[in-house]
Amino acid sequence: MRRTLSLVAVMILGLALCGFAPAPAQAKTTFVTIGTGGITGVYYPTGGAIARIVNKKKDQYGIRCTVESTGGSVFNVNAVMAGDLEFGVVQSDRQYQAINGMAEWEGKAQKKLRAVFSIHPETVTLVAAEDAGIKNIADVKGKVINIGNPGSGQRQNSIDALEAAGINFETDIKAEGIKAAEAPGLLQDGRIDAFFYTVGHPNGSMKEATAGARKVRFVSITGAGVDKLIKAKPYYAKAFVPMKNYPAAVNKEDVDTFGVKATFVTSADVPDEVVYAVTKEVFENFEDFKKLHPAYAVLTKKAMLEGLSAPIHPGAMKYYKEAGLM
Ligand code: GLU
Repeated sequence: MRRTLSLVAVMILGLALCGFAPAPAQAKTTFVTIGTGGITGVYYPTGGAIARIVNKKKDQYGIRCTVESTGGSVFNVNAVMAGDLEFGVVQSDRQYQAINGMAEWEGKAQKKLRAVFSIHPETVTLVAAEDAGIKNIADVKGKVINIGNPGSGQRQNSIDALEAAGINFETDIKAEGIKAAEAPGLLQDGRIDAFFYTVGHPNGSMKEATAGARKVRFVSITGAGVDKLIKAKPYYAKAFVPMKNYPAAVNKEDVDTFGVKATFVTSADVPDEVVYAVTKEVFENFEDFKKLHPAYAVLTKKAMLEGLSAPIHPGAMKYYKEAGLM
């Protein structure tokens, strides 16, 4: 009898737990993925910073943000356009080319590409082994140079920089097409003489490149050809590598080059409420966001609305209007 009673009690408890107790409100979760770059760049921690801020409000928005390491800007544009990723970090020059059907998208304008905001400045950076004797971009002739993997943003910047200096990347150098994350190791192993990387500073890649036994120099990308290039392309501007970030490099003075901006993009197919939530959380937590990477030190809300060439996504626009930013 006692046994039967306790069995009944257990059954009642079980029923209460699984069926009869009021179920907690189970909001539907929307999963969104941000495409970034190699893990030693700035895109990867940038995706992480945005995801962290958005995920704090998971209960409110039902959005769960994750980050993917990818081959970079060009890969990200294509994956966002294919619907494989909801967001991507993309160089401003690549955003311009994709929406206008240029470079990798020649004749194939990516009409559904939408801008959300811009982020940190990126410089076209050339890092060389000191023993390779490369002091300016003109010295790379005959050397083994990593210009970047197909899919990366920097590949076209490297080609533009080389051409501006009168160097044909197919015939005048031995061009490698490896991912930025592998370049510092190859430089230290003596398998390449230098590598290009369009990236914010400081970054893990250049810390790694300067931390080895082989001495490393940051190379200026300057000259009449480069000045002409910057004048001709609306998305390029003069920039410099702040060398205080890399005390182990041979050269100590800031290095002149040119640069672009990192931007955050999405597709017209991503729902307004998702883009609104992501935009709002980044802007409303701006001071916290800025602290998440030293490359954001120069960010202002106003600057984050500059350098966008694709139409602004209506979800982002809704927030900018509400906040009086536009
Ligand atoms: N700018 C690079 C690219 O578009 C990525 C830089 C980074 O990961 O920080 O491929």
